Amino acid sequence: MTFKPLPASVTPEIDLGDSFVTTTVDAVVNWGRRNSLWPFPFGTACCAIEFMGVVSSMFDISRFGAELVRFSPRQADLLIIAGTVTYKQAPVLRRIYEQMCEPRWVISAGACATSGGFYDCYCTVPGIDEIIPVDIYIAGCPPRPEAFLEAIVQLQNKIDRESMKEQRTVGV
Ligand code: SF4
Repeated sequence: MTFKPLPASVTPEIDLGDSFVTTTVDAVVNWGRRNSLWPFPFGTACCAIEFMGVVSSMFDISRFGAELVRFSPRQADLLIIAGTVTYKQAPVLRRIYEQMCEPRWVISAGACATSGGFYDCYCTVPGIDEIIPVDIYIAGCPPRPEAFLEAIVQLQNKIDRESMKEQRTVGV
């Protein structure tokens, strides 16, 4: 018995040209996440004024895909703490963090949020990492808008290295 050769359209040797791109799920998901951060500003003092400069046209955080500032934690994935945090505010900050969906990231902006700054007193939290986990710290009192943008870039680099498999394992 003789078989007719298959048409070229169904043979495995077909030349697919540049019709396909191979990548990983992590690369695609991280690419989407890193370029569409939605910040929730927890601004309590002067550092928040600097953040207002960051979202202005002068510094233009839109270039990094992070301009969609939200004031509902359920619509945000990036919590930016800019200013002094007191122990009275601590439960509020913690609740806002817990209301954000995973994945979520935190930037501590300025000396006060990061270490309590020069407020060495009974009422000031000496660093918000006593309350919630922090991904990126920004130095300065206040940090300049460029420092905020650098923090966004550093966070994007961190997101690039994240793995969905590890996140699932941690959640088990
Ligand atoms: S770090 Fe400096 S600029 Fe920022 S909130 Fe504290 S005192 Fe104000």
